[in-house]
Amino acid sequence: MKPDASLDDVLDALAAVLRDYGRFAFDLSRQDARRTAALFDQWSQHVVAGVEAPGGAGKTAGKRDYPGLRRAFRQHREAEQSEMTQVQDSLREVVWAFVGGLNRLVSEDAADDAKVTATLSQLAFKLGKSSPVEIRSVALEAVAQVQAVFEARRARQQTQMQSLAEKLDALGSQLETARRDSTTDALTQLYNRRAFDEQLVRTVELAGLRTGGAALLLVDIDHFKKVNDGHGHPAGDAVLVAVAQACVRVFKGKGDFVARYGGEELAVLLREVDEAQMTALAEKLRGQVEALEVRHQEKRLKVTISIGAARWARGESGAAWLERADKALYAAKHQGRNRVTVAGAALPRAA
Ligand code: GH3
Ligand code: MG
Ligand code: MG
Repeated sequence: MKPDASLDDVLDALAAVLRDYGRFAFDLSRQDARRTAALFDQWSQHVVAGVEAPGGAGKTAGKRDYPGLRRAFRQHREAEQSEMTQVQDSLREVVWAFVGGLNRLVSEDAADDAKVTATLSQLAFKLGKSSPVEIRSVALEAVAQVQAVFEARRARQQTQMQSLAEKLDALGSQLETARRDSTTDALTQLYNRRAFDEQLVRTVELAGLRTGGAALLLVDIDHFKKVNDGHGHPAGDAVLVAVAQACVRVFKGKGDFVARYGGEELAVLLREVDEAQMTALAEKLRGQVEALEVRHQEKRLKVTISIGAARWARGESGAAWLERADKALYAAKHQGRNRVTVAGAALPRAA
C-alpha cells in the first residue's frame, strides 16, 4: 500500500510543530519565551533545511541530529512541567494561607467582640449603681481591656501579613510579571506604558507586604531632540533602541521591570534594593550609555542620559512615588544632565 504522505510532508509537519511549540512557549525561570522560540525555530530549520542544530551537533552536511532533537524537546517539556507544578503548588499555598488567615481573623475577631461587649455591659451595669470613684476605676479598666484587645488584633494581623508575604515571595516573580501580549512597545521591545502603569500598582501593593525596598528609576535621554534634528528621526530611533538594550542588559534580575514610559523616556522598577544598590545600578546604566557608540548608516552617535531615582516610602501611593522620581529627574537635568539624582524623602501623608 502506498503511504498517503511523503517523507517531505512528514518533515514539514515536524518542522511546523517545532516552530509552533517554540512560538507558544511561556517564560521559565531559566529561559524566557523568546529564547525558547529561537531555539525551536533553529531545530525546525535544522530538520527541513539542514542548518546547524542548536548546540552545534550534526554539522555533517545533510545529516540530522534526531537524538539531539528528542533530548532537547524532552528537556524543555520536563522543565515546563516542573516549573508549572512548582507555581501551582506555591499558588495553592498562598490561597490556603489567605483563606486560613481570614478564617482565623474572623473567629478571633468574634471572640474579641464578645470580650469587648462583656466589658462594656459590665461598665453599663456599674454605671447605674456605683459611686463616681468606682465608676472611674471601672471605666479605666474597660478602656485598658479594649485597648489590649485591639493591640492583640493588630499584632495578629501583622503576623499573618508577614506569613502571606513570605509565601508570595516563594511564588517569585510569576505573579508580578505582566503578560507579554499587548504590553510590548513595538520599537524598543520593552514593556509599554500601559504595562508600566499596571506594574507600578502591583509593585506598591506588594512592597506594602514585604520589607519594602522597591525602587523606581526614570531615565531620559539628554538633548534627544538634537539627535533627531541633526541626524534624522531614524537615527533617533536607533539611539532609543540602543539605550533600551543597554537598560535591559543592566537590569536583568528576575524582579526587574524595564518599560518605555514615554517618547525618549524609560522607567525601571526594582524590588528589594537598598539606596546604595539603587544608586550603583543607576550609575552603571548611566556609564554604559555614556560609553555607547550607536552606529547608524555611516555615523557613530553618542548620547547621555539623566536618571531620577526614588525608593518607595511605606504608605506612599504610586502617583506620589512617580512624582518624586520625576522631580529627581528634573533636578538631574537642571544640574547639568548625564547624572543620577536621588529623590528626597517622601512627605508624610496627610492624616
Ligand atoms: P532634555 O535633555 O531636556 O531631555 O532634552 P530633549 O531634547 O531630550 O527633550 P525634549 O523632551 O524636548 O525632546 C524629546 C524629543 O524626543 C522630542 C521628540 O520628537 C523625540 N521623540 C519622542 N519619541 C520619539 C521616537 O519614538 N523616535 C524618535 N526618533 N524621536 C522621538
Ligand atoms: Mg523627555
Ligand atoms: Mg530628553
